[in-house]
Amino acid sequence: MESPKKYTITAALPYTNGPIHIGHLAGVYVPADIYARFMRMQGRDVAFVCGSDEHGVPITIKAKKEGVSPQDVVDKYHKIIKQSFKDFGISFDNYSRTSAKIHHKTASEFFKKLYDAGKFTEETTQQLYDEEAGQFLADRFVVGTCPKCGFEESYGDQCEKCGTSHNATDLINPKSAITGAVPTLKETRHWFLPLDQYENWLKEWILVGHKKDWKPNVYGQVKSWIDDGLRPRAVTRDLDWGIPVPVEGAEGKVLYVWFDAPIGYISSTKEWAEKHGKDWEPYWKDKDTKLVHFIGKDNIVFHCIIFPAMLKAEGSYILPDNVPANEFLNLEGRKLSTSKNWAVWLHEYLEEFPGQQDVLRYALTANAPETKDNDFTWKDFQARNNNELVAIFGNFINRVVVLTNKYYEGVVPKPGEFSAVDEQTLAELKAYPAVIASSIERYRFREAQGELMNVARLGNKYLADEEPWKLIKTDEERVKTIMYVALQIASALATLSEPFLPFTSEKLKRMLDYGKSSSEAIITTSGVLLEEKEEKEWEQIGQNSDLLPAGHEIGKAELLFSKIEDSQIVEQLDKLVATKASNEAENSVVEPQKGIATFEDFTKMDLRVGTIVEAEKMPKANKLLVLKVDTGLDVRTIVSGIAQSFKPEEIIGKKVTVMVNLAPRKLRGVESEGMILMTENKEGKLVFLNPDEDGVKNGTVIS
Ligand SMILES: [Zn+2]
Repeated sequence: MESPKKYTITAALPYTNGPIHIGHLAGVYVPADIYARFMRMQGRDVAFVCGSDEHGVPITIKAKKEGVSPQDVVDKYHKIIKQSFKDFGISFDNYSRTSAKIHHKTASEFFKKLYDAGKFTEETTQQLYDEEAGQFLADRFVVGTCPKCGFEESYGDQCEKCGTSHNATDLINPKSAITGAVPTLKETRHWFLPLDQYENWLKEWILVGHKKDWKPNVYGQVKSWIDDGLRPRAVTRDLDWGIPVPVEGAEGKVLYVWFDAPIGYISSTKEWAEKHGKDWEPYWKDKDTKLVHFIGKDNIVFHCIIFPAMLKAEGSYILPDNVPANEFLNLEGRKLSTSKNWAVWLHEYLEEFPGQQDVLRYALTANAPETKDNDFTWKDFQARNNNELVAIFGNFINRVVVLTNKYYEGVVPKPGEFSAVDEQTLAELKAYPAVIASSIERYRFREAQGELMNVARLGNKYLADEEPWKLIKTDEERVKTIMYVALQIASALATLSEPFLPFTSEKLKRMLDYGKSSSEAIITTSGVLLEEKEEKEWEQIGQNSDLLPAGHEIGKAELLFSKIEDSQIVEQLDKLVATKASNEAENSVVEPQKGIATFEDFTKMDLRVGTIVEAEKMPKANKLLVLKVDTGLDVRTIVSGIAQSFKPEEIIGKKVTVMVNLAPRKLRGVESEGMILMTENKEGKLVFLNPDEDGVKNGTVIS
């Protein structure tokens, strides 16, 4: 295999406006982790870095909605996300965050260096401005029709439907996401990275240079971008959450989140190097270092065009060797969505399937969206577990360990002469490390894991054909050889499974008392001795048939995988059905806050507790009920549009809140003297607002 001096492996910085779900894991973090673990096992010098992406508009929108500060939002989700990665064995060497001091400093200096070198253009432009909110509308603060595909709810910076990245002023019919107002144009000054100047260089570097080794989906998207012509991109924003633009006269402006976020990979590497007394620079500046970005397809433009142009402009950095972006994973046929809660959240999965991280890692890799969008279904998840992990991998290991304990008190027997089948089986086994390695090096993780499962199939078939449990009665000597061969396959599985199924690998190594467990391997990635041992472990399978020598003592059998019952799957499906129903009802839109009302405005309204004493349908109107309400002041007629939610007889005697001084108005010829206050439940049914306690008298003032 090729052997760069160092590997800098990055995984997309998760955006901290929510926890992470299976789509993130399948698209980015599991493949990145398989790659990083594999490279460490080959003795490579690896820096696998990531961190939380904590700036940008969506976080400020979420903070506004929840009435907390942006820092509160990122603190909350940074903690949850970091824990999920740890729980699922994502073996980052460092997990940082973009609100960290070291990142602010790194990003700020990066900008200043480009600024001083005259790499930006400065422009005063017309930007969308919300008069009502008194602020500029960058990125997700504005929603409108995508100029490319016509999707009506495109964000200002990017269309979620077609993936196109654009400027907010390109949107057709823009609307403020804060107030819903139609924005005006207002002058503001910003700095731009003139991407058009990098067009020829990008063509040469990617379209010519990486035609063969980059994935077709990535290459194709880059090509279409470049073919469309690149335009200067603003790298600053009018916003108060982010990294201040380190230039005089730029008050109230911050670095565009997409300028600062990828620099987060560099800051994370710095943070790691500082902790371990290393020099970070070779990981980013040495020509012999291989830089690989793992991302989802929505990030291709940023990692293949914008960030490389930034690195090129800076001048001292290496460029990515590959950007193996995945397509999207859907859930039961629908697009995964954080805001619509259409997801399997990692922290919830672990509550429902405790200790079964590897099952999810396995199912997601088996179905990875490497070349096209794929669908995660709970049925497939169950089948992968029951028919593959339990029936093949688990069954084989269990037989080997149980029979070795039963026949030889756990001691590996001395083999006799190998039969033709034994020879062939061992020869097949020896071929696998190179086959799996070759797939991983080409970023074909699904294929690589398929080959791993073929090792388990090889073992399972060997035992099923040789039937040592029958032969033990007639040919004890032959059984020794069979069990010896089976034990070699089991130990090979313990090593080869580590990048894919780290928890299983560790358990299996413990059961066989074989090799180094993965958790030790993570802690000591910088320890040369261990790397050599690990490296040998993978290589040895291809070279040596005596992985577990005669006389070695193994441990007792533990369960590697357990069957997932139908009832568990039904429970998950029910949960999704409930989500779907509540999404449809909520429509996931919260109305924006209205303009300010003064205290005087409020005290003008006379709100009282009342009781409905009579109710009947308004003739020829299907929405209206005519009510008689005892307001404590009088019994009066109020016409209310609640007929589709209530039958008249259901609401007689109901305590209600009435605005008694609303100007009277005629509805269908009936004069209505007031209004009853209502809200909606999540299914869209109207509900009354009434006092929390019984016995509040009619006419009591609400203030
Ligand atoms: Zn679009």
